[in-house]
Amino acid sequence: MTEDAMRTRVRELMPRARADLAEMVAFESVYDPTQPAPPDCARMVEWLEKAFTEAGVSDVRSHVTADGSQAVTGHVPGPPDAPTVLLYFHHDVQPPLDADAWESPAWTFTERDGRWYGRGAADCKGNIAVHLTALRAIGDELGVNVKIVGEGSEEQGSGGIEDFVPKNTELLRADAILILDSGNIEVGRPTLTTSLRGIANVVVSVETLASAMHSGMFGGAAPDALAALIAMLATLRDDAGNTTIRGLDSEQSWSGIDYPQDQFRTDATVLDGVDTIGSGSIAEMVWARPAATVLGIDCPPVVGSSASVVPSARARINLRVPPGMDAKAAQDALIAHLHDVAPWHVRVSVEREAIGAPFSGSTEGPAFEAISSAMSSAYGTEVVQQGQGGSIPLCTVLQETFPEAEIMLFGVEEPRCLIHAPNESVDPTEIEHLALAEALFLRDYASARRR
Ligand SMILES: [Zn+2]
Repeated sequence: MTEDAMRTRVRELMPRARADLAEMVAFESVYDPTQPAPPDCARMVEWLEKAFTEAGVSDVRSHVTADGSQAVTGHVPGPPDAPTVLLYFHHDVQPPLDADAWESPAWTFTERDGRWYGRGAADCKGNIAVHLTALRAIGDELGVNVKIVGEGSEEQGSGGIEDFVPKNTELLRADAILILDSGNIEVGRPTLTTSLRGIANVVVSVETLASAMHSGMFGGAAPDALAALIAMLATLRDDAGNTTIRGLDSEQSWSGIDYPQDQFRTDATVLDGVDTIGSGSIAEMVWARPAATVLGIDCPPVVGSSASVVPSARARINLRVPPGMDAKAAQDALIAHLHDVAPWHVRVSVEREAIGAPFSGSTEGPAFEAISSAMSSAYGTEVVQQGQGGSIPLCTVLQETFPEAEIMLFGVEEPRCLIHAPNESVDPTEIEHLALAEALFLRDYASARRR
């Protein structure tokens, strides 16, 4: 089949994709491991079993994972000796948040100004629509074996799939893994997300006095725990705002697409007249370098505070760890730094929180070449590479479990989708273009490997 014929076939499948998405958005599949799973999580899984089976996937099954959520798997046999491609999605969604902030109801698929609205329309049900459309379009042009895996608790990070993957390697093993839970840098600009920062949080506590003491009688000589903590936290950045943890490199550079200053200011809602921070480019600061952020401080709140010297205080520090840096070593460096900079021999203790390794996706190899070429063809323009400042622990688990596999991260979640916020939406042309790209990849990857 020519590429044009495939393009036409995908276009003809778009009303079906729209109908699918309308059905999926209506499922309130918000998973919370601390609550009994709502019936809509099970209904969503049943829907997926039916939809993927109808799209030609065999043995579509659900599996209860360690956190109580359900993973969905299945496979499509390809030609003998063909490589295997694993298609990932998640089927839980974020809670709708403030119902009043939605212009149309969160659980009702609504078309407005050419975009499709509803919770999960992009993250990640729009990506499910991409997979279904690609599988329907490919027909007997399939050049690879396909496996699917759908996660049921991605938004909660409760670890169900991270536990499931290493225990189910035969169901999931693949040569190339397409993780559809990311997005283009802007609509119409095909983008692979090739790096994710990891995480290494700590909670630091400072103690100086056995009790809060009158600041008139004792302030000036009594060691103030809050002042000590503030001084310690202040050493985590220099005047320009660069992260300055002793022993941690913070001058890495970024070679993918730039993140334009204006775009970043808008995306990050930076107020007029306020500077962005750091001496690198925006892309370097958010994708390639470490960043320490104080998430919270325990100390007396303003209302109810008394005129006394604070005897103890603590802070949670979030450290984002870029690719190329070891998350545990970064956490060690942060802890040593905090002890080193503590003034006045105050008592310091530091508690470690969970760490997550950074991730680098494939940037060379046959699958990378094949998906880049498929995306370029589908969109009619060159593919760019971006990073993502946050973490997706599953990516690291897949990389550790299947070290030979090429992992590619992309999807329909461009910035205008407002994922996780009220008024989430998806641009249907992104579903169409990415379904075409995925179909072309499923057709051509095997021959790209032979070249
Ligand atoms: Zn997602």
